[in-house]
Amino acid sequence: MRHDPSGTEQKLRALGLRPTKARRLILDVLCESSNHLSTEEILDDLRRRGHHASPATLYQNLNRLVQEGLLVRFTGLDGLSRYDANLEPHHHLVCTRCGRIVDVGSDKTQLRRLVPLDLHNARPLPKWRISGALIEFRGVCPICRSGS
Ligand SMILES: [Zn+2]
Ligand SMILES: [Zn+2]
Repeated sequence: MRHDPSGTEQKLRALGLRPTKARRLILDVLCESSNHLSTEEILDDLRRRGHHASPATLYQNLNRLVQEGLLVRFTGLDGLSRYDANLEPHHHLVCTRCGRIVDVGSDKTQLRRLVPLDLHNARPLPKWRISGALIEFRGVCPICRSGS
């Protein structure tokens, strides 16, 4: 999916959020990057674009954007919070050597058959309604493989 910077402002307005410069830039940074950036990496990218935000302000804005569903936050293998602007259902394939995270799809029919089971009795968990699954595949990427 191509990123359309003029759409960012509309997305924010549609949710009743003021399209501040900081919010627009944060979304642009994440939409234009195919990586799943950490807070520190977003700060660096904003600085490169001439926008100097404090970590506290950035964090507040990221929280708000996650709450409104414009970003997804998850924890990477390195334990850092990372942000994803790809809102289409997808999974992650993580390189265990360099930490690269690639968006991947999966076989939907197989996924529907995937049921979380109680660890103790291997039965489906009672009273839960399962709405989705986020799978983290792990492996070694081609660049790391060719280097070894
Ligand atoms: Zn790698
Ligand atoms: Zn992703």
